Order: sequence, then structure tokens, then C-alpha cells
Amino acid sequence: MPVTHEDILHWLQRSAQVLHENSAFLTELDSAIGDADHGINMDRGFTAVSTKIAGVSDADIGALLKTVGSTLVSTVGGASGPLYGTAFLRAGMATSGKQVLETPELIAMFDAALEGIKARGKAQAGEKTMLDAFIPAVDAAQQAAKDQLPVPQLLQSMAAAAEVGMNATIEMIATKGRASYLGERSVGHQDPGATSCWLILQALSDTVSP
Ligand code: ADP
Ligand code: MG
Ligand code: MG
Repeated sequence: MPVTHEDILHWLQRSAQVLHENSAFLTELDSAIGDADHGINMDRGFTAVSTKIAGVSDADIGALLKTVGSTLVSTVGGASGPLYGTAFLRAGMATSGKQVLETPELIAMFDAALEGIKARGKAQAGEKTMLDAFIPAVDAAQQAAKDQLPVPQLLQSMAAAAEVGMNATIEMIATKGRASYLGERSVGHQDPGATSCWLILQALSDTVSP
């Protein structure tokens, strides 16, 4: 079963809800190693997304994702807005004109989103950022595709890998973003952006669960 335009709409609405519910938690994580606004930023951005996409009936997944990207860029201040915004814009370019996404299109979409975040933020694995959830998640998706797992299992393995990656950020020293100002004092704290990344991927898996 491919991922449909309707699934993507449900995923975005579910993400908005989950980020709203976890807004205080994300902001608390950011208060330890940043400026205490990550939950506020993500909630503001996805509330705007949720309003913007309500009633979108055009079945082009690419156009929908590009709208999400531009909405995030224009409504979220801070590092995470341009980073998630670029991820969704690139994901939208990779799925231009698509009405459904089979495994190869999903992999292309995630690859494009990942390349977008890397290009925009110039970070790599191990720097205590959202990439430390997203890189292992995309690796897991590629492995699941090789193993010919059905789409729901592929998304489940992505979310599981993102969660492991998120937990691994606790022991990392931040070398990008505001948390890098703390240097070694950033150790012992979970990265807020890796946490929102896991929440968004878990929302996708939950939306498309078998
Ligand atoms: P700001 O730091 O501007 O207040 P947010 O608090 O919304 O923005 O987002 C912080 C998160 O952004 C961090 O937890 C980290 O995951 C992510 N981040 C910061 N800089 C980068 C970067 N260069 N590449 C990837 N992710 C980054
Ligand atoms: Mg912040
Ligand atoms: Mg900020």
C-alpha cells in the first residue's frame, strides 16, 4: 500500500497536534542547552501549516509539501525554521506531481529532505542536532527498502531508528547551533531538534500503521 495524498495530510495534522502537545517538553529541552523556544517555534510553525493545508484538495503531494516548507520558513524564527523548511521544500521538489508514494519515491523524498538539511545547516552526524535522529532514520529506511519491507514497516523502522538516534544525542557534545556555545556542558542533555524530528517521524509511522 503506497502513501497517499490523504495520508500526508493526516500526517501533517497529526504532527501539528503532537508538536502542540509536546511544546512545553521541547522548550524545556531547549532551555537546558539553547534559548527555550524550540517547542514554541515548532508549535507556531505547524499550527500555521495545519491552517494552511486545511481543505487542500489538489492531490499533488509535491505541491503540498512545498507549501509546508514555505510556511515553516516564513513562520518559524530560529535555526529550526529554515532547516525544517528546507527539508519540506526539497521533499516537495522530489515528489513533484506525485499522487501516491511507493517505496522508491519515499526514499527519494527522505534523501532530498536530508540533503536539504545538510546543505542548509552544514552539520554532520555526531554534532548533536536533528540530523542525529534523521540520518539513522534515513539509513533505516534504505535498509528496509533493500529488505523489501512493506511501507508501514519501513516507516516503523525509521521512527525506531530516530528514537535511538535522539537518545544518543544526550552523550554528544554540541558543535552546531546555540548548544555549541556550551561546549562540553551540553553533554547530558537531549537535543531538542532531534526530539522534534523523532516526533514528526513517529507521527508518520502512526498515521500509516497497518
Ligand atoms: P534556535 O536555536 O535558533 O532557537 P530552535 O530552538 O527552534 O532554534 O532549534 C534548535 C535545534 O535546531 C537544535 O536542537 C538542533 O537540533 C537544530 N540545529 C541547530 N543548528 C543546526 C544545524 N546547523 N544543522 C542541523 N540542525 C541544527
Ligand atoms: Mg531555541
Ligand atoms: Mg531561538
